[in-house]
Amino acid sequence: MDLGYLILKNPARVHSFELPFGKAHVFYPELSDSRSAASLLLDIDSVALVRGRSQSAGEGSLDQYVNDRPYVSSSFLSVAISRVFGTAMGGRSKERQALADTVLEWTAVIAVAPCRGGERFIRALFEPLGYVVNAERHPLDESFPEWGDGFYYTIRLSGMQRLQDLLTHIYVLLPVLDAEKHYWVGDDEVEKLLRKGEGWLATHPEREAIAARYLRFDRRLTRDALARLADEDEPDPEAVEQARTSEEHEIEAPMQLWEHRIGAVLSALRAVDAKTVIDLGCGEGKLLKPLLQDRAFERVVGMDVSWRSLGIARRRLYMDQMPDAQRARIELIHGSLMYRDKRLEGFDAATVVEVIEHLDPPRLAAFERVLFECARPRAAIITTPNVEYNVRFATLPAAQLRHKDHRFEWSREEFSAWALGVAERFGYAVRFLPIGPEDSIVGAPTQMGVFTR
Ligand code: SAH
Repeated sequence: MDLGYLILKNPARVHSFELPFGKAHVFYPELSDSRSAASLLLDIDSVALVRGRSQSAGEGSLDQYVNDRPYVSSSFLSVAISRVFGTAMGGRSKERQALADTVLEWTAVIAVAPCRGGERFIRALFEPLGYVVNAERHPLDESFPEWGDGFYYTIRLSGMQRLQDLLTHIYVLLPVLDAEKHYWVGDDEVEKLLRKGEGWLATHPEREAIAARYLRFDRRLTRDALARLADEDEPDPEAVEQARTSEEHEIEAPMQLWEHRIGAVLSALRAVDAKTVIDLGCGEGKLLKPLLQDRAFERVVGMDVSWRSLGIARRRLYMDQMPDAQRARIELIHGSLMYRDKRLEGFDAATVVEVIEHLDPPRLAAFERVLFECARPRAAIITTPNVEYNVRFATLPAAQLRHKDHRFEWSREEFSAWALGVAERFGYAVRFLPIGPEDSIVGAPTQMGVFTR
């Protein structure tokens, strides 16, 4: 409902703007307390485009009239975003400043974006910024399927962001995807790139490609921009998370619970005769390593929402130096258990090791559907702490969970009630196994559910 305050007032009507190359319209297809949508429609006037051009640019040729520009999201859309949503992109809101400063859940859909670098490049640009990316490639011409696919994509970006950051990322990265800019690039473009890239570009793994493409491959400008980006000293936002992870390890380390867990999961995978395995929330790849060492697992995929963890997994597995035969068996993908994703489908088994307790309870329902309805592996193996056991950890203060980021820790009864409900709803059978040294009163430190269908 507050979207109108964040973007443009009065969601009840259509707002139209004149731009040098056409018109922009903003309207609100959906408004409710839980979800709202705003659309920006850009109507490019190809004749106006030609009129606005400098004399030398392709004078007299047909392609200045016949090209894809009016139909795609390109640097024209970036200009429209800055004109129409300028206040929001600057992080300001007259009446809802607190909301403008808040990280909210957004989904942005870019209807048709040209990208010759393909889906890999789209992911490489947006995933490090914390988006879950879905890119749908379109055929060149629907009436002639034999022509194959074109290089146009519908891109969906989902993630937790401030609106200001969402708009800025799209503003900068649209022309980068496209690598074709409609205006001349000069020194002031370096300034603009650095200003808009503040806080995220300096640490972006693709910063060189972004700068080069944004500046239209002008070598001098790109060098200048990169040199100045290198001076920016960014604190690592995920360092905090790392400190917390080691805390959990200290509590559980003395009993080598971690090894018990891996052992139990591997036996469960062998028991269901899994050849292809996806490890959801793979973190730094603790389970991926032993999976890879056993050739009975023909295909191993690790998925996590944390870009940083995936980077560590890649290094720990020495993926860049792996022999080809081994390299062909493993893949790391960035994604979230909150969103349905085709890449998660078709596996014999999925493992979800010490992950569910990191999910907000109201979002468990989304996770259940993603795993059991969409990914729908033949077997799913889920482990989670048994909270009853916490009293046996000498170093853990009473009533405290094992990890600061745990949203909950379940008793054996709570876990089995949840698991049985899920199994029934999605047509699976489930059995429960303890992991680690079992205590006669409080049970084992970790609990595991093995779901099969
Ligand atoms: N399975 C690993 C890591 C457990 S820590 C192991 O046993 O060592 C929990 C992991 O879940 C973290 O790496 C975190 O980034 C990941 N995670 C949390 N929420 C997630 C989500 N919505 N989608 C995918 N991964 C998620």
